[in-house]
Amino acid sequence: MIPGTVGAAPVQNIGAYGVELKDRFESLDAVDLVTGRSVLLDAAMCHFGYRDSVFKNVLAGKSIITRVRFRLPRPWQPVLGYLDLERKLHETGITHPDAQQIFDWICAIRRAKLPDPAEIGNAGSFFKNPVVSAEQCRDIIGRDPEIVHYALPDGRFKLAAGWLIDACGWKGKSVGRAAVYERQALVLVNRGGASGAEVVTLARAIQESVYGRFGIRLEPEPVMI
Ligand SMILES: Cc1cc2nc3c(=O)[nH]c(=O)nc-3n(C[C@H](O)[C@H](O)[C@H](O)COP(=O)(O)OP(=O)(O)OC[C@H]3O[C@@H](n4cnc5c(N)ncnc54)[C@H](O)[C@@H]3O)c2cc1C
Repeated sequence: MIPGTVGAAPVQNIGAYGVELKDRFESLDAVDLVTGRSVLLDAAMCHFGYRDSVFKNVLAGKSIITRVRFRLPRPWQPVLGYLDLERKLHETGITHPDAQQIFDWICAIRRAKLPDPAEIGNAGSFFKNPVVSAEQCRDIIGRDPEIVHYALPDGRFKLAAGWLIDACGWKGKSVGRAAVYERQALVLVNRGGASGAEVVTLARAIQESVYGRFGIRLEPEPVMI
């Protein structure tokens, strides 16, 4: 349920629910638009980061991805560390879900939270989840103990941007026809006829209030042209 093409998937290292493309990526073929040559890039060459890759930086607009190779682990191993999935395990009492069960849970969670772009215009999560140091995270927890946060392998913490936006009171608010989705504060929606300027004004206002309250700068996930 991440809408898009296979070729675009490595561009922002798509991911959800604890797994990113880079975790299952082998290599890709791309056409270098400067030389016209076909090149093969492995994971190291793609410089994958959180919703980021070389295709958003050094190679932005300079290559077209034509083939992506994935490598899936055998035997299959579930990744269940995400809060919503932990809740499902708890609610259902299922301790060893199979792949189909996880697939069904994730589709249900996403349907409940994310508007269908075919019905309400949106670009999915509008801001990246900010990554902060352990010290910053402790400081925020001291003030807001409820904050949703995830420990990263490098000792830093990923905070739920939707939670930060919600805490600033943005859920359901709008600027013109651009609005913050009532069911998930991380999603900005077009109520019909919103201008680009309205979306940008709303996004900036959200960034300012989150910075004012938490001292964190939210970074947009979509590419703005
Ligand atoms: C409801 C909803 C939910 C979403 N959920 C998620 C989510 O959970 N996780 C997540 O990571 N994203 C999510 N997204 C964002 C979006 O689905 C992804 O960014 C997806 O990869 C975009 O694919 P696209 O084909 O539409 O690319 P586009 O938006 O058309 O392009 C994205 C960028 O990639 C470049 N590009 C596209 N194709 C190629 C290619 N073949 N070679 C080189 N460059 C290329 C474009 O020039 C552009 O800069 C969501 C979006 C929506 C609307």
